[in-house]
Amino acid sequence: MQIERSKRKLIKMAFYAIIVPLIVGLLLRFVFPTIYINIPLHAVLESVGATIAFIISIVFYIKYARYGHINRFNIAAFGLLSMGIIDMFHAVVMPSELFVFLHSSAVFFGGLFLGAVWVKEFQISRENYRYIPLSVLVFSFGFALFFIAFSDYVPRIFDTDNSFSINADLLNIIGGVGFLTASFIFAKEYLKTQELQELVFVGFTMLCATAALLFVFSDLWNLEWWLWHILRLSAYIIALYFLYAQYRKEIFQIEDTNEKLAVTNKTIGKYLDIVDEHVITSTTDLRGIITQVSKAFCEISGYTKEELIGQAHNIVRDPDMPSEFYAQIWKRLKSAKSWTGEIKNRKKDGSVYWVKTTITPLFDEIGNVFGYASVRQDITDKKCLEKLSITDALTELYNRRYFNEVIEEEIMRAKRDDKHFSFLMIDIDHFKQYNDTYGHQSGDMVLKKTAEVLVSYSKRTSDFVFRLGGEEFAILFSGLDEAKSLKYVQELLQNIEDLHITHQANSASPYVTVSMGLVVQKGESIDMHEELYSKADALLYKAKQSGRNRVVSGV
Ligand code: GH3
Ligand code: MG
Ligand code: MG
Repeated sequence: MQIERSKRKLIKMAFYAIIVPLIVGLLLRFVFPTIYINIPLHAVLESVGATIAFIISIVFYIKYARYGHINRFNIAAFGLLSMGIIDMFHAVVMPSELFVFLHSSAVFFGGLFLGAVWVKEFQISRENYRYIPLSVLVFSFGFALFFIAFSDYVPRIFDTDNSFSINADLLNIIGGVGFLTASFIFAKEYLKTQELQELVFVGFTMLCATAALLFVFSDLWNLEWWLWHILRLSAYIIALYFLYAQYRKEIFQIEDTNEKLAVTNKTIGKYLDIVDEHVITSTTDLRGIITQVSKAFCEISGYTKEELIGQAHNIVRDPDMPSEFYAQIWKRLKSAKSWTGEIKNRKKDGSVYWVKTTITPLFDEIGNVFGYASVRQDITDKKCLEKLSITDALTELYNRRYFNEVIEEEIMRAKRDDKHFSFLMIDIDHFKQYNDTYGHQSGDMVLKKTAEVLVSYSKRTSDFVFRLGGEEFAILFSGLDEAKSLKYVQELLQNIEDLHITHQANSASPYVTVSMGLVVQKGESIDMHEELYSKADALLYKAKQSGRNRVVSGV
């Protein structure tokens, strides 16, 4: 359907641009053989045409300069450039052989260039791109100036009967054939693409071809001669109008796009504000120096933007977090991978907050990491709950629930690492009587004091201290053989007695003391949780039986 319509358009165009002018031309020649000499009018017609040709070629040159792209439109533009320049000289020389020769050469070179539009599209570098119009320019100027300076070299243009010579006719015919070839190419492309630009060039080249052919039949200054001048000028004007229309369309499109962009930007801006306010984000450079923070980041950390930007990210680091933890994060980031995990941070006022964090490397256009971006989620509440659920309220030691979790993990770890694993069970001596003598509250104080000693004696990361219930405690530790474990535990025992908390009813000492059951096992031979527990319990019972305030150890 579409193709049919396009074909009809092309046929109509050929009719109006070739057939009608040819008939009108011939009619004028035979019916009105008038001679009308008007040099200024001719000069105006030609220079207007030449100027338009010049403008069109510049517009096309600029349009494609961005890509360094050579297609049929650039080639056509170079043809127009050459034609425009030579025609300009034609417009300003007085009527003579040179005058006709320059015009015919303009048609010749224009036709040659335009006839070359069948050449396939190709790329050239943007630097070289500008040399093409430059060469066309230099050539065309050189050509025209040469013949103006040395008009003796101009070939014979008029026959004795004052009609145009074969030289002049040939130049125009070759040019005309070039234009005609071009119009076929553009027509073919038009059928393929339906693009208006192609159609305009079909019309343009057809008019130029007709003008060139009419030349052959015309004589200087006769009406037919004027007709083809007008034809050519109309061709130029149509092409110029097309450019103008295209330009307007593009301007409208740009304005439309700008409006849409403005709306989109506003929407994005709103979302960014929301993100800024509610998402804890930051970016850093490669060394971890903060380059950007969100409002939410400022809010949770208690610092202002100004206080944060330019600072190392460890401004919010909590001293409790071990250095190996950060070393591991850096290791992962340095291999351009992202990291996700939970981090304890410290606010400006010294209080603690927890964030679930994802840190991702930022890449530049060529794929190099230039910094890091982090997104965080406040999990302080969750962490508090978590801590509550594993902590004993009175002593702040880990509770029995956590004990059951950790002991399994620690047994597995010690087995895997083939290490010594120690399980110590602790029970305060005659504690019931202590309560009876000094009151329950004093009893609580003893529990707290005992817990403090246990904690202060268990500072390694693999040490875990629990209150299993009542006045019973447990410590898990690894990496010490039986002798070393025993030595450490005995010191601990002594330290509790050294608190010198008076306990009259204690049969083992005038002070509060504890009894301990210690199990030390290694690697593969480590028992399961329950067996380990009952072994330690039995050893503790032995310690009680054999006089209290002592450790009994076993494997
Ligand atoms: P033994 O030397 O054989 O261990 O004697 P004991 O009295 O310590 O042993 P028993 O298990 O009979 O008594 C434990 C006591 O611990 C009973 C209870 O009054 C006391 N107790 C348990 N939990 C708490 C607590 O939270 N606070 C206080 N003050 N006392 C507690
Ligand atoms: Mg007990
Ligand atoms: Mg007891």
